[in-house]
Amino acid sequence: MSGVIRVAVPTPVHGAFDYLPPASGPSPVIGGRVRVSFGRRRLIGLVVGTAAKAAVDTARLRPIDEVIDDTPLLGPDLRDLLEWTARYYHHALGETVTTALPVLLRRGEPARRPAAIHWRLSGEGRRVLTDAPPRAARQRQLLEQLAAAPDGYPESALRSLLPRATPVLARLTEQGLIEHCDPPAQPPEPRPGPPLTTDQACALDTINADPGGFAVTLLQGVTGSGKTEVYLQLLQATLQQGRQALVLVPEIGLTPQLVARFGDRVGGRLIVLHSGMTAVQRLEGWLAARAGGPAIVLGTRSAVFTPLPDLGLIVIDEEHDASFKQQDGLRYSARDVAIRRAQQLDVPILLGSATPALETLHNALAGRYRHARLATRATGASAPAIQLLDVRSRPLEEGLSRPLLARVHEHVEAGGQALLFVNRRGFAPAMICHDCGWIAPCRRCDTGMTLHRGGRHLRCHHCGAARPAPPQCEGCGGETLIAVGEGTERVAAALRSRLPAARIARFDRDTTARRGSLERMLASVAAGTTDVLVGTQMLAKGHDFPALTFVGVINADHGLFSADFRAFERMAQLVTQVAGRAGRGERPGEVLLQTRHPDHPLLGTLVRSGYDAFANAALAERESAGLPPYGHLALVQAEAPDADAPTRFLAAAAGLASSSAEEAVAIWGPAPAPLERRAGRFRAHLLIHAASRAPLHRFLRAWLPAAGGLREARRVRWSVDVDPQEL
Ligand code: ADP
Ligand code: ZN
Ligand code: ZN
Repeated sequence: MSGVIRVAVPTPVHGAFDYLPPASGPSPVIGGRVRVSFGRRRLIGLVVGTAAKAAVDTARLRPIDEVIDDTPLLGPDLRDLLEWTARYYHHALGETVTTALPVLLRRGEPARRPAAIHWRLSGEGRRVLTDAPPRAARQRQLLEQLAAAPDGYPESALRSLLPRATPVLARLTEQGLIEHCDPPAQPPEPRPGPPLTTDQACALDTINADPGGFAVTLLQGVTGSGKTEVYLQLLQATLQQGRQALVLVPEIGLTPQLVARFGDRVGGRLIVLHSGMTAVQRLEGWLAARAGGPAIVLGTRSAVFTPLPDLGLIVIDEEHDASFKQQDGLRYSARDVAIRRAQQLDVPILLGSATPALETLHNALAGRYRHARLATRATGASAPAIQLLDVRSRPLEEGLSRPLLARVHEHVEAGGQALLFVNRRGFAPAMICHDCGWIAPCRRCDTGMTLHRGGRHLRCHHCGAARPAPPQCEGCGGETLIAVGEGTERVAAALRSRLPAARIARFDRDTTARRGSLERMLASVAAGTTDVLVGTQMLAKGHDFPALTFVGVINADHGLFSADFRAFERMAQLVTQVAGRAGRGERPGEVLLQTRHPDHPLLGTLVRSGYDAFANAALAERESAGLPPYGHLALVQAEAPDADAPTRFLAAAAGLASSSAEEAVAIWGPAPAPLERRAGRFRAHLLIHAASRAPLHRFLRAWLPAAGGLREARRVRWSVDVDPQEL
């Protein structure tokens, strides 16, 4: 390679940087990593191209220090996608590339795949499994998996199925029950699924309809209607064609249950990628995907950037889920990047949801997406009706009304399970002085602290600050401090005292923080040794609880009157999803929603007429306000320790904009952020609005660099968020 080499370097400065070829050693390749000097630092960058001539005087260019990859790490399609992503989100290319790479590759580790190891049962292992299977569940599970693949099973796939497999493998090897073997000529046969229902077959036809190639299909079906089964059939067909599929699921949807179900059906061709894996495991999965050949990559948000040379299909499950949007750094939507990727490679993409995002529904209604529906539950169980329970005049005990408690009791007595959805973890959202109204504040944020540990401890859910709860009011010295509102901890405690015979489990970030604890708790639900589940939105998705017959929503009113125009949509999705947990088995389900606003029109529409009717009403409201999906937004946020600096910067930036030629663009703000001070920093924002995308992007392209050049910009940390999801 000669001439000038263009390198994307991880720095906030946009564009690629010019370097000279290295003085000695191997030549750099496009799509490979190099080490370069950048200012006073040494950074790892990606070669994105060459040029005959440099933008600056060649005498000022520095040579590349070292070539890391002698073959391209990223192919042309992925480089195109990353360039598109950087342009669309107005983010620096080098940082975009870095976001897309596994952490070990960012650090310059070699991109070498370890030799693939395969395992099979030994003769002794086969005998033991039939005569006296080990009592340890994980050992037995691993032996059974191998028994189903007599020619050998790849270790990487075993590790995907069975997290923390190392000690299990070691133990079984020690006992002589398993052994290494050569890779099988044919990977293990996937197990066929049940015959599809008429609805499912119809959905499959819609997705496969002519012409093939790029098309977006929305697969809309209530929870339990059999969407996953449709994915699985499509995935098996993709494997049969020798191609790869990418399946993205929300952060908390990637449960051991789901991985096991996929593993069972796609044999040893499953590659799992998520944030709970070690850096080494993630790199191995990434490299396995990059090697091509039939495979299914099942992952969370960042897996959208996995190299997939044989990609034939993309599936986004729960496409409406907020976790697909990254909230810092490169603020991308994995769903939207995936749609772009499918278009670029001319392959189909399937978006599945019981509660599609209004944007997605709008595209389907406008005919831009194909629309397949699954109207009934695959198992024939009927979908539960939601009932509103007006709690305005009822006495509440720790947030629970008498009728709700009574229903929990009845369902548990009848042998069912009950789920109570609480939108906060901890004991209570606030500690208040009865005498003067003082609220225990976070000292670094404009917000109160949440009580934890039965009310003995305070924690800020925004910055993580923690301290013991004070014995007296810090305002007036009064001694009557009361816990106001309820979190999961308080509701679970109240249930324990009201229903002493019931076995109660609490599901939130605090109780499931330890590795493996969520799995254990879910296993207890499946085994029927838990009667009542109390939890946050963690319980809303993914899990299949066949014995669950009752769902209670303690309080959904927080979504009704928020400053964020999407708050109601999110609440409606959550309520519909959590309600969908009930009655998936043989017994019908019942859902009660406590509210102080039973007359709220959108809430009424949601409860009486369902999600589609709600979505239509909400879309009409959005249209009249020009809000997404009828208008397009970019959010510019600024923060600083100095209270005035963010607003001063944003006002100056807005001032620059007023002279802009883009008349189609309106600037709203600046305004203080809803939580103005957070972790000791003051925050403000500015919204840029346009009726269509093109002028918005043209405007941003010219305006952002000018804003960044303002003197006021030096006093703040600022960022831009295209298609922001949270305001
Ligand atoms: P969703 O993804 O929409 O929540 P699933 O695909 O998980 O739905 O299906 C719900 C339940 O119905 C699962 O237990 C699944 O095994 C079962 N199921 C799905 N499709 C069929 C089918 N065609 N025949 C029999 N059972 C099915
Ligand atoms: Zn007081
Ligand atoms: Zn705080």
